[in-house]
Amino acid sequence: LSTWSAVPAGPPDPILGVTEAFKADKDSRKINLGVGAYRDEHGKPYVLSSVKKAEESLTAAQPDKEYLPITGLPGFTQNAAKLAYGAESKPLVENSIAVTQSISGTGALRIGGAFLGRFYPHAKAIYLPVPSWGNHTPIFRDSGLENAPEKSIVLLHACAHNPTGVDPTQEQWREISDILKEKKLFPFFDMAYQGFASGSTSRDAFAVRHFVSEGHQIALSQSFAKNMGLYGERVGAFSLTTVDPEEKARVDSQLKIVIRPMYSNPPVHGARIANTILSSPELYAQWESEVKGMADRIISMREKLYDTLVGLQTPGQWGHIKSQIGMFSFTGLTQPQTKALADKAHIYMTADGRISMAGLNSSNIEYFAESVSKAVK
Ligand code: PLP
Repeated sequence: LSTWSAVPAGPPDPILGVTEAFKADKDSRKINLGVGAYRDEHGKPYVLSSVKKAEESLTAAQPDKEYLPITGLPGFTQNAAKLAYGAESKPLVENSIAVTQSISGTGALRIGGAFLGRFYPHAKAIYLPVPSWGNHTPIFRDSGLENAPEKSIVLLHACAHNPTGVDPTQEQWREISDILKEKKLFPFFDMAYQGFASGSTSRDAFAVRHFVSEGHQIALSQSFAKNMGLYGERVGAFSLTTVDPEEKARVDSQLKIVIRPMYSNPPVHGARIANTILSSPELYAQWESEVKGMADRIISMREKLYDTLVGLQTPGQWGHIKSQIGMFSFTGLTQPQTKALADKAHIYMTADGRISMAGLNSSNIEYFAESVSKAVK
């Protein structure tokens, strides 16, 4: 008998499973709108020019491959914090942000979950949005956090909410901040799309910066997967604002103790790329314009999709396609409709009707709109 004979087969990942189905489809019209990865106008993965230039300068410098410290590349984490909190942020200026490099956004959430699971002094419970990114539930369940009574932790999508593409307005963020304060809830921001929502990295950081300026202590997960296109490089950061440098040092020491047995220390290459961009004014400016370019292409696809659906007299309201922001659109397509689109039109999306807008381009958007129109008629 095999040692593993009692291991039950698990279900496929709801998002990555869509890509498997797409890959197996041989039809030339097939479209993958499942995974949240940017595609260019030709439907191809996109490596930013700022990233290519940063890599060229790294190749020329021939850095060694030594281990990073447990909390990562120091220049990178400082620059990541500056990008999120803003250069004038009080805790940043006062050196009271405990920050560590992470294995992209997922790893940041997982470190945050583990740290809060160990040290959060109130109920170890977390409220997640409904709906939310599919991986939030397993991440926090595996971190030992439960469903939530008062004084709980609240997970907030900082911008470009996944899957709905619907963000609070600045006025609503102010209200949310007041309510969290009143109820003494603890905000844990997941910022996986800084720059992707509006095209501006500082505008997309509004919620994080507002909460900090209002005196909230926050936890923050950052990912450079989408805004730098560094998906597989796994570049991210996790940070906590503390009250002073002495408290920060204590928190830092415990972050190291959380991380060391998980993966020892983070990968170096992607962090060097991100840090090269964040610390060079020239590359930074180019990167910001490339982020805006990606956001703008997505916005133009929203307009085109809306116009085409309405032009085809597709039943229903489609205004949300234009008002939603970020990588995704929550179309409102039902599960049978998404299944019909996969089976009959070779178009793949998650079962909740979420589409990655970045998967659309001028060559496939009409076929997509026509297929959706047929599916709902
Ligand atoms: N959080 C949200 C809301 C996301 O949509 C994603 C990616 O899809 C992530 C976090 C983490 O992604 P990664 O681990 O690739 O940075």
